[in-house]
Amino acid sequence: MMRKIDKERRILTLMVRIYCRKKHRSQDLCDECQALLSYALNRLDHCHYGENKGFCSQCPSHCYNKENQVKIREVMGFSGPRMIFYHPVMVIRHLLS
Ligand SMILES: [Zn+2]
Repeated sequence: MMRKIDKERRILTLMVRIYCRKKHRSQDLCDECQALLSYALNRLDHCHYGENKGFCSQCPSHCYNKENQVKIREVMGFSGPRMIFYHPVMVIRHLLS
């Protein structure tokens, strides 16, 4: 069984990739999205909740700074529904909970 935090890392990475590909027409990640992803993964590494954490979007302690919080919300709002086509089982539970 994959660790929860690894799963979340994969979901985050995938979401930013989908967002960038569709919105910025970028083959790989553009600089802005790369920076956002690095930031998000870094926050995840330092998450107080560790293995007991819930999904970031439902986390009570908002550890993102304002700017990145706005960005990641947009990414999740955009990629979330599209993730269903990529990784049905993994994601639906998170998004609909
Ligand atoms: Zn981008």
